[in-house]
Amino acid sequence: MHLHETFGENVFNDSVQKERLPKEVYKALRATIESGKRLDTSIAGAVAAAMKDWAVSKGATHYAHWFQPLTGLTAEKHDSFIEPDGDGVIMRLTGKSLIVGEPDASSFPSGGSRATYMARGYTAWDPTSPAFVKEGTLYIPSIFVSYTGETLDKKAPLLRSMTALNVQAKRILKLFGVECKKVNTTVGPEQEYFLITEEAYNQRKDIQLTGRTLFGAPATRGQELEDLYFGALKTKVSEYMRDLDNELWKYGILSKTKHNEVAPAQHEMAPIYTTTSVAVDTNMLTMEIMKKVAQKHGLVCLLHEKPFVGINGSGKHNNWSMSTDTGVNLLSPGESPETNTVFKLVLTAVIKAVDDYQGILRASIASAANDHRLGANEAPPAIMSVYLGDQIGALVDSIVSGSNYVPVKAEKSSIGVPESPIFPKDATDRNRTSPFAFTGNKFEFRMLGSQANVADPNIVLNTIVAEAFELFADELEGKKDLEKAANNLIERELKAHYRIIYNNDGYGPDWEPEALKRGLLNNKTTADAVPVFFEDKNVQVFVKQGVYTEQEAIARANIQLENYVKTINIEALTMLRMAKQDIIPAVSDYVASLCANVSAKNAVCENIPFETEKAVITQLASINDELYKNVVKLERDLASVDKENVLAASQAMAHVIMPDMQAVRKCADAAEELTSSDYWPYISYYDILYSVK
Ligand code: ADP
Ligand code: MG
Repeated sequence: MHLHETFGENVFNDSVQKERLPKEVYKALRATIESGKRLDTSIAGAVAAAMKDWAVSKGATHYAHWFQPLTGLTAEKHDSFIEPDGDGVIMRLTGKSLIVGEPDASSFPSGGSRATYMARGYTAWDPTSPAFVKEGTLYIPSIFVSYTGETLDKKAPLLRSMTALNVQAKRILKLFGVECKKVNTTVGPEQEYFLITEEAYNQRKDIQLTGRTLFGAPATRGQELEDLYFGALKTKVSEYMRDLDNELWKYGILSKTKHNEVAPAQHEMAPIYTTTSVAVDTNMLTMEIMKKVAQKHGLVCLLHEKPFVGINGSGKHNNWSMSTDTGVNLLSPGESPETNTVFKLVLTAVIKAVDDYQGILRASIASAANDHRLGANEAPPAIMSVYLGDQIGALVDSIVSGSNYVPVKAEKSSIGVPESPIFPKDATDRNRTSPFAFTGNKFEFRMLGSQANVADPNIVLNTIVAEAFELFADELEGKKDLEKAANNLIERELKAHYRIIYNNDGYGPDWEPEALKRGLLNNKTTADAVPVFFEDKNVQVFVKQGVYTEQEAIARANIQLENYVKTINIEALTMLRMAKQDIIPAVSDYVASLCANVSAKNAVCENIPFETEKAVITQLASINDELYKNVVKLERDLASVDKENVLAASQAMAHVIMPDMQAVRKCADAAEELTSSDYWPYISYYDILYSVK
């Protein structure tokens, strides 16, 4: 079958809606999706019936409200369509079942915002994201709220943040005579991942239980030859990627780019951007499909941010912009940005927002797993800064310094190969080391971890930019000389927030001290980053923009810290078990066998040399003792963590337990390098990273 026949075949998308819904119902539904008009519940019955008929024609027997609780994952409860009818059954989906579901909410995290006795939760259909059929079930994208109306998920606040931005952006546009029904935010999340064989996976308890290796001496060949990025695809990988694309396309997911990444066994998939709420849903689905397709190929897809030490981890670049329903991208500079006041205002609003709320933006992507890659090899440091590129950087510099703007135009350049066509040189320049880079007509937020739900940073981004727009609109509305007032505002705000702009190497040694001088935050761990959510200014921006209530904001930060503590606790316990049950005994056995060899040699003749054995025995025995000491310390420190107090516990995890774990690992990895591979209990880094042929 051709792609144009299978693309989107599992999705109740616009064309299916048009074909299957009565005309009036279709129009009402589209109005809700496109301009955010409240859904007329009287049409729900007709939509439900059409959706069910379509799903049944695709082999579905069940439906499920599909939502995103605060676990960071997706959740689903399946109900069948069947209803008794005489001796048999009929298949039915009522309007009410489409609109609301009632899962028991008591087992989902609530961050203390909801007493268990009030644990009733409701899922409610989100018509802006299309329903789809997967493995015999109709999935209905939904939001998740409590009986008392508190949001218990990531989707509802995301939609609220998009609404806030829409309302405030339109005020700015209206001032300048730009008419539109809606301003949407758009996201294109580039997804990195690792592929290893199932066989390798099955031999590592740490990867199975925690998603990453807790032990493992680096392979003797990593990524240093820089020969892997964009390298030719191995057959197995290529087959996997092909199959993955085909699956994603069936779900209407616009998978566009695929390639090998920097580290061995690391790859990337980038889709074409779409409306943020849909991008969030499809990214969650993408991650699930990536894992499932891998299984079919005897592979395991690792989405953890740092599965292996010593080589790059995986991130998820969040390409973000705003555009009107009439197709105008608000971050598009146009031919002459210097006279494009709307663009300059929008740009200034983003810069102001990122500076004012750098703490919560950084916190929004914090997790135990992502802590391993922030500031490491390839990833941005934990400091927020904005990179603007040559063209827009020069524009901002000229405004701040009051000098003339000399346009940096994309120049035609030749590569000196006569056969090759001339191509325009990119004026955005693409500083890969910046955490928040302007790339032509969008910002690329690069701090996100690969397994994260992209809703979190986008909720913050939309909210803080909405806030900046609101302040700007308040100031400018009613001004007689609008251009002048706007340019004064732009100059004032760019001067005030100039410190957040950094155009140099974000990985270089100069940046940390420089950022400190500028007063920028540098919260390196989740434990240090997340508490900024509790600061009044930060809570209030969510409240003011109608995204979270005070209680919701605080609950979410608590859950993030709880997750952090639980994740590290599981890792530490797994590490202890592996060290005590497998590694220490293995090293001890190997030492014993060497000792036995020495005795055997002695028994034969006293003059047989045994310097090698002696050297290895001495080194390994002392490493094993050191390892055991570190294990005891980790065990003791872990037992004394006050898990009831999440703030104290997260601090202890970051600053006591993590260093303890590193000490344990260091000994074990040193032991691995000296121990016979016949004795070592785990498959090595080499055998994992080069397992896919
Ligand atoms: P790269 O950053 O890897 O060089 P591109 O700049 O071509 O690649 O695009 C990266 C991602 O940005 C893609 O997912 C693309 O769809 C997305 N993107 C492009 N324009 C926008 C936009 N206006 N809003 C959000 N994402 C966008
Ligand atoms: Mg990119």
